[in-house]
Amino acid sequence: MMYCPKCLNNTLFIKDSGVIEILINEKKMDSGRFLFSSSTSKTELYADAQKKLEEFVKWLANFSNLEPLKKVKFITGDVKCESGCVSAFSKLNVVGQILNTAQVNQILEDVSEKYSMDLVLES
Ligand SMILES: [Zn+2]
Repeated sequence: MMYCPKCLNNTLFIKDSGVIEILINEKKMDSGRFLFSSSTSKTELYADAQKKLEEFVKWLANFSNLEPLKKVKFITGDVKCESGCVSAFSKLNVVGQILNTAQVNQILEDVSEKYSMDLVLES
């Protein structure tokens, strides 16, 4: 559940379409984003997330001071309040709303192994 930061008591929903920005260990990559919409199937979302997470991890693997992959966030400002608050929301982490956490963790396990990155997932 995500609560509206303006009225503080209504639930926020993800809009029918928008942009997800990926953060790994609080880092951003310029192309580390993908689109979602209500017409995007879960299979397509999974494939998009997988492709972007792989690009991201491949890019991170080039850093000289490698830290383990720890925290992944899917950040979006494309949310709305059920009572219609119109303020611009600060960006929220919606990783569990877009894909389930187990799916995201599976992708991370696969790509971290492929690029020899350590993975330390925090729950
Ligand atoms: Zn609200």
